[in-house]
Amino acid sequence: MIAKNHMVLVGSQEKPTLITNEGEAVAPPPRLVLELDVFLRLECYFRSTDKEFQVLGFVETHDNSFVVRDLVVPKHSSGAAYTEIDQNAFPALLDELEKAGKDIEKLRLQIHSHGDLPAYFSPEDVNTIRTAYACDWMISFVGNRACDWYARLDVFEPIPLSIALPIFISLPAVTPGQEEEWMCELKSRMGRSFL
Ligand SMILES: [Zn+2]
Repeated sequence: MIAKNHMVLVGSQEKPTLITNEGEAVAPPPRLVLELDVFLRLECYFRSTDKEFQVLGFVETHDNSFVVRDLVVPKHSSGAAYTEIDQNAFPALLDELEKAGKDIEKLRLQIHSHGDLPAYFSPEDVNTIRTAYACDWMISFVGNRACDWYARLDVFEPIPLSIALPIFISLPAVTPGQEEEWMCELKSRMGRSFL
């Protein structure tokens, strides 16, 4: 075994970097994608209260995307600079979700607000990420009342790894019929140019 203090850099690459080049990466860089109603609900929660709060999300993986279609609000304590999930009530919530046919294995997103304070992963948040999750990966999300939002992916196995994730909204697809209707209206009201 190599002792830590005997680590000597021998390759030319000094720091690990995400490979984003299409020709070299196995997929485009990872991202967090919120379905529109999830985004609207979160935006409402964040904007509407100066208290810290906790929300959990069901995450599905598609290619390079972690997609969130469903949220759950667990019982939690909440203050101006404090929030914690009620650990006594949590097993009952998981039971309830399972009985409702939800896949609790997909509960991989932990969202919390810093209220009116700046949004960043505080040392307490990082400590929670390091110690609280009994799964191989988890996404954490922090925001504040100004809707300044940040997300990170933490992988715990086979080695611990943290990646900042960009957040996207998935807009519903517009049907061709709808587009036709819009274009008909536009064209019917476009007057002839005299120039
Ligand atoms: Zn925090």
